[in-house]
Amino acid sequence: MSPTKYDSFPDGLKLSSEDEYGIVSRFAGTIRFPTVSAPEGFSLEPFHKMRQYSTTAWRNVFSSLDMELHGEASILLKWSGDSSLSLDPVMLAAHQDVVPAGDPARWSHDPWGGEMFNNRIWGRGTIDYKCGFAGMLEAVSLLLAAGFKPGRTVYLSFGHDEEIGGLLGAQAITESLQDRKILCSSVLDEGGYIYSDPHGAVTAEVAIAEKGYASFQLSAEAVQGHSSVPPDRTAIGVLARAIVALNESSMPLPEVPEEIKSADWLQTTFAPTILSGGCKENILPGRAEVIVNTRPSPGSSVAAVLEYILSVVEPLGVKVELLDNGSVSEPSFVSSTDTKDFRALKRSILNVVSKDTGFRCGVFPAATDSRRYSRVAKNAYRFMPVHLDQKGIGALHSVDESISTADYLRCVKFYAQYIQRTCR
Ligand SMILES: [Zn+2]
Repeated sequence: MSPTKYDSFPDGLKLSSEDEYGIVSRFAGTIRFPTVSAPEGFSLEPFHKMRQYSTTAWRNVFSSLDMELHGEASILLKWSGDSSLSLDPVMLAAHQDVVPAGDPARWSHDPWGGEMFNNRIWGRGTIDYKCGFAGMLEAVSLLLAAGFKPGRTVYLSFGHDEEIGGLLGAQAITESLQDRKILCSSVLDEGGYIYSDPHGAVTAEVAIAEKGYASFQLSAEAVQGHSSVPPDRTAIGVLARAIVALNESSMPLPEVPEEIKSADWLQTTFAPTILSGGCKENILPGRAEVIVNTRPSPGSSVAAVLEYILSVVEPLGVKVELLDNGSVSEPSFVSSTDTKDFRALKRSILNVVSKDTGFRCGVFPAATDSRRYSRVAKNAYRFMPVHLDQKGIGALHSVDESISTADYLRCVKFYAQYIQRTCR
């Protein structure tokens, strides 16, 4: 790869160690706001306070870009570009909310302290996903300071309820953009990382698709009776056979584009998560139930998964019902890699990672806000240049969530480069 002017950060700007300290400190400040979202309701006050903090920390961004609030605490920033180039706008998205920290005593650093220790920043949200929120604001701030003018409009979209489904934030922003007939060329969101395999190979993975989400209730009925004389067929026994059958079989893979044919997590998964049946130790229950949470693979559908489960468990005498609880989502479409935005993304990634880091496209096994934004974006790419350790994605919601200073600075550099490249 020969260097281009877009490889510098931004356009030849050099950062002193003092500048870097400022960048990291501003990010650490966002960790100190416990912006926890929860399905049973949550306080918006930490979100309002973090927004106030941000307008001071990245003053030039909030004074130069147009800001809208959606769903009370989600932020949409519009950086108007040169309209003469007639390019579609581009979106970068990060959610402001985080999952609860659990018992702080289990953390080695205060989860809400934003502590900088041992070349890492510690706390809930450092990876998921305030490095995106602060990193994007920092990148735009640096670009503004360097006099950069985008050749197309850039949207920064910061939802506030991704961890509980994104209906108040990403969904509200999406509907508002739909009303204005705004269609972005792509959205860049979380969901791809830099992974290390057990043999030491390091690979940056852009997720160009994500799986769907659907839970099903499987139930079995039998005659209620005395447990001293159990028949061959019991409700729990039938249900247990169905769970084993489902876990031992695998749904045929749908057709997917070449880039993700050998991706991890492509297969539709079936995870039994809630089991119930019986009320007393000496009564055979008349009914037993299990909730099976599934993640339909790209190219499949919720309906196809239902049909498949029925084909496996119905012959065993088990009934199946989709839990239509608002969380259901179809798998995403597979985004094109033959686009200006993808090329800008790949180039920016290869420029900020080390020489021996590989590159691949993949599938994200969980749901992100991009499933909402996909209705106002032709493509969805999921990536941040953050190294995950052997825990992989499990590190995101665990105790001791933290990010290295180098990775955070890499995020800022990456977002600045990506915006520069895709907005020319
Ligand atoms: Zn997240």
